[in-house]
Amino acid sequence: MAKPGSNAHMVIRHKALECIGCCLCEETIPQYFQLDDDGMAQLLNSTQEGVFQRATALRLDQAEIEEAVAGCPVDIIRLDNS
Ligand code: SF4
Repeated sequence: MAKPGSNAHMVIRHKALECIGCCLCEETIPQYFQLDDDGMAQLLNSTQEGVFQRATALRLDQAEIEEAVAGCPVDIIRLDNS
């Protein structure tokens, strides 16, 4: 059985090496993405998982995150359940 509140989080994955620094994700969800000194997006509070940066996200933010996923011009942001 699922633990209470276990669906409160989702997972964002970001292939940072392919970022072109368009800044859309930072404008859409600044609580999750910030551009670094080189102008490339970094997923905040993330750990490295293969080629992806991985961080947990609040399900409450799902709509905003999906906007960033859809808007990323090089399609390197994913939102998954786990
Ligand atoms: S929207 Fe995509 S390309 Fe633009 S800064 Fe964010 S990760 Fe990089």
